[in-house]
Amino acid sequence: MNIKFAEKYGFCFGVKRAIQIAERNRNATTLGPIIHNTREIARLERDFDVSLSEDIENLADAQNVIIRTHGITKQDLQTLQERKKHIIDATCPFVTKPQKIVKKMSDEHYQIIIFGDKIHPEVKGVASYGENVCVITSVEELEKVKLEKKVALVSQTTKQPKQFEQIAAYLVSKVNECRVFNTICNATFDNQHAADMLSRDVDVMIVVGGKNSSNTKQLLAIVQKHCPHSYLVEDENDLQESWFEGKALCGITAGASTPDWIIKRVQEKIEQI
Ligand code: SF4
Repeated sequence: MNIKFAEKYGFCFGVKRAIQIAERNRNATTLGPIIHNTREIARLERDFDVSLSEDIENLADAQNVIIRTHGITKQDLQTLQERKKHIIDATCPFVTKPQKIVKKMSDEHYQIIIFGDKIHPEVKGVASYGENVCVITSVEELEKVKLEKKVALVSQTTKQPKQFEQIAAYLVSKVNECRVFNTICNATFDNQHAADMLSRDVDVMIVVGGKNSSNTKQLLAIVQKHCPHSYLVEDENDLQESWFEGKALCGITAGASTPDWIIKRVQEKIEQI
């Protein structure tokens, strides 16, 4: 079986960086999962003594606290500082950027509009840096917001650029002054585009990633459009030989939270088949 990888797949820059930070800081606790992959979290715990705490109140004796890629709220950060924790910041720089923008614009008395999902940890964190903040997911929602004269717009890193443009265009047409900050990160779209391209050329396509990961499910939906023989596997044990019968070329892509060592095992098993 010949194998071809998507041009871009797997860990993004921010996740790679966070894992490296965790590996350099043994005996630490991450506040929230550092990555949406249970196997990688287990590996960090087993090999590097990096444990996980879902809640700031459950940190108990943990002295070294790693802040995950999506960041935390300003209030949680203050709590950690007050409790004299040693803070190891693995927040992705692409998430720190909108946090800083929201703080600066808020200090300059702009009304802040965040294009994002209210309950997403990244958005909660970014929103916590502003005073007058409104989180919306569409132009329809924005239409119900009482806009002020000066408005600043940022986006959750994983939002669609087209929708962001529509929201920016609406704001520009409604307020006296609108500052637009494109804080979308291209990592997810680059992976999706590369998977889409590859799925057009292969007989069978394997997407490696967590079955609960929305990012991985999105990848599967994209590749299924051009390659009906597309399958999602969490690791090599999910592969079925029958998928490859009569097929010559297998494409592989992986979700943004899938570590390389799992992808390698899947590759080796397919090669054996
Ligand atoms: S997807 Fe983008 S913003 Fe999110 S962690 Fe990765 S590089 Fe950072």
